[in-house]
Amino acid sequence: MKIPFNRPFLTGKETKYIEDAISLGKISGNGVFTKKCQFFFENRYGFKKTLLTTSCTDALEMAAILLNIEQGDEVIVPSYTFVSSALAFARQGAKIIFADSRKDHPGIDENTIESLITTRTKAIVVVHYAGIACDMDIILDVAKKNNIYVVEDAAQAIDSFYKGKPLGSIGDLGTFSFHETKNVISGEGGMLAINNEKFIDRAEIIWEKGTNRSAFFKGEVDKYGWVDTGSSFLPSETIAAFLFAQLENLNAIQEKRIENWKQYYEGLSILKDKIRLPIIPFFATNNAHMFYVVARSEEERNSLIKYLKNKGIHSVFHYLSLHKSPYYLKNNTESYELPRSDHYTDCLVRLPMFYELKSSEIKTIINEVVTFYENRI
Ligand SMILES: *Cc1c(COP(=O)(O)O)cnc(C)c1O
Repeated sequence: MKIPFNRPFLTGKETKYIEDAISLGKISGNGVFTKKCQFFFENRYGFKKTLLTTSCTDALEMAAILLNIEQGDEVIVPSYTFVSSALAFARQGAKIIFADSRKDHPGIDENTIESLITTRTKAIVVVHYAGIACDMDIILDVAKKNNIYVVEDAAQAIDSFYKGKPLGSIGDLGTFSFHETKNVISGEGGMLAINNEKFIDRAEIIWEKGTNRSAFFKGEVDKYGWVDTGSSFLPSETIAAFLFAQLENLNAIQEKRIENWKQYYEGLSILKDKIRLPIIPFFATNNAHMFYVVARSEEERNSLIKYLKNKGIHSVFHYLSLHKSPYYLKNNTESYELPRSDHYTDCLVRLPMFYELKSSEIKTIINEVVTFYENRI
């Protein structure tokens, strides 16, 4: 492919910081670079407490453990999301209740959540699709009224805001990803943001294999041992060192991605009678995680992907409705009608988006998409 869908961006300092971590003589987790990254996030976004993890999936699993999700609990999750948003809760025994997407955006339809709540509902997992905020006031209202926890899957939502509040800082817990396809990366990597203070101490224990090791190193207890459930959720210092090099360049990364996004948006606006461009609601900011368009049919979407592929441009579709996934259908008898989720499954296409994408390449992509549509009715 002449233009790949993604190309991981290296700032240049990653290997230097990894060498620094090695020369410090401690490359297991929770060392100098882990603390630097966590401080960066807490300081910049006001998260009460952050813990780096080896993935967003791990952070979601920590969330499910912290909320004591168990057999018989129900957790509301959008169907149009990545597997992990549901899986982390399903593997704790929860029954997943799927919500549909908004008409104007692939994110959860906030106004349908209330009708999905039962006496067994324990949590709502919202996903800020493409880094665009869900309407959190509606979600928090419903959650408060029904005494339900809110988890923000903010995997795509670094440096994005809802009415001025950083995404991931609004629900009880927020989860982030630093997978190489996200805005800032460490290969595999993630983070749990703990906003509800009552979860902080236990989160540290779950993070460190069910031990109170963190409290021991802070001098709060005189020996440490097995006190709770947990796993080894923390990344090694080499991963944190890589991530820190990225964080030092977060502003530059964001600026360039937003510039790319705007070029796409302006260039493709002439097609707005034929394709749907992304919308940024008044309450949300755009962190340019993704540039997607929505075609009119599955056939049209697939033809566009194929057309671009023939021109050396790698575009991709995205999620497959989870309520129709083989794993869900094998383990559940409920069937759902979630037409909007299915529509995005069939018709959404993501265009190349990465830091080093050149303006001339975006221009080429725009021209090809326009040419494709000129030849269709
Ligand atoms: C990328 C992503 C994940 C998974 O992140 P990992 O770090 O790969 O585990 C989960 N949820 C959403 C919405 C994502 O985009």
